[in-house]
Amino acid sequence: MQEVRLFSPASVANVSCGFDVLGFCLEPIGDEMVIRKVSKPGIHITKIEGQNLPLETKKNVAGVAGLALLEAQNYSGGFEIEIYKGIKAGSGIGSSAASSAGAVFGINHLLGSPYSAKELIPFAMKGEELASGAAHADNVSPVLLGGFTLVRCGKKPDVIALPSPSELYAAVIHPKIELKTSDSRSVLKQKILLEKAIQQWGNLAALVSGLYTEDYDLIGRALIDVIVEPSRSALIPGFNALKKAANEAGALGSGISGSGPSVFALCKGKDIAEKATHAMAKALGEYAIEFDTYCSKINTQGIKILSEK
Ligand code: ADP
Repeated sequence: MQEVRLFSPASVANVSCGFDVLGFCLEPIGDEMVIRKVSKPGIHITKIEGQNLPLETKKNVAGVAGLALLEAQNYSGGFEIEIYKGIKAGSGIGSSAASSAGAVFGINHLLGSPYSAKELIPFAMKGEELASGAAHADNVSPVLLGGFTLVRCGKKPDVIALPSPSELYAAVIHPKIELKTSDSRSVLKQKILLEKAIQQWGNLAALVSGLYTEDYDLIGRALIDVIVEPSRSALIPGFNALKKAANEAGALGSGISGSGPSVFALCKGKDIAEKATHAMAKALGEYAIEFDTYCSKINTQGIKILSEK
C-alpha cells in the first residue's frame, strides 16, 4: 500500500464542565488528507486547499506530528501529505487536531500499523503543541479514538474512551469572528474557589456517569461550567442568546466549544438537534455576524479511510 485518502473529523473539546479533559468527535465536518509513501526522507506537505496555512513541515501541525512518528520509528523513507481543509483554523472545533491526528493515523496505516490509535495520541499532541503552545490531548483523542474521551492528566496520563449514548446529537454554530487562543486563555482565572471546584467535579463525574447509563436528563443537568464559561463567554458575541435559543429548542445543555468562538449544544435525538441548530442560527442572525452551523450525531468512529492504493 502506497497511498491513503482519509477523512479526519472536527471535534468539540472541554464540553462545559470538562475543561481541558473532555472531548467528543463530530461527523459532518473535517479535513480530507491524502498521504503517500515516497523515497525522499521526511514529511513533505505538497498541497493545502481551503485555508491559507504553511506548507513548511515544521510550521504545519501535520508535518510536526508526522515527523515525531517517523523519528520514533527510525524510518528512513518519507511521506507526502495533501491537506484539503474543511475546518477553519481558530474555529474552536479542532482544526489543528484534525490535521495532526490525520497525519499520524495515515502514516501509521501505511507503515502497517505499528501503533494502536491510543499510542498515536502523543505524536498528534506534538502538532497541538505547535498550534497552541500546549501539548493537549482533548481534541486529538476523540479524533483518533472516536466518540467521547476523557484525559486524566499526570506523569502517566490516561486517555479513556467513553461510551456515546445512541440518541446523542450535537448542534454547533461557528460565529466567524477572530478569537485568539491567547485571548481566551488570558481571561482564565488562575485561582478558583473550592465551592466552584466542588460543583465542577460533581458535574464532570455526573456527565461521565450519564454517558455510561444513557441518562440524558443527568447529562443535561451536568452540562454546566461554573469555572471557565463565566469568564470566556464575554468574548463571544450573542453567547447568552445562543444558549437561550438552544435551551428553548429543547437541548440538554450547551457551552463553548474548545476555546471558542464555536458554541455547541448536546441534544437527545436528531429532531431536537436540528431545531437547536436553527434556533442558534436565528439568534446569531440578530448580531449581523456570519456563521456556519453543523448538526451531528456523535461520531463514534473518528478518522475514516476513504480509499487506499
Ligand atoms: P481550533 O481553534 O479550531 O482548534 P487551533 O487553534 O487548534 O484551531 O489551530 C489553529 C492554529 O494552528 C493556527 O495558528 C494555524 O495557523 C496553526 N496550524 C498549523 N498547521 C495547521 C493545520 N494543518 N491545520 C490547522 N491549523 C494549523
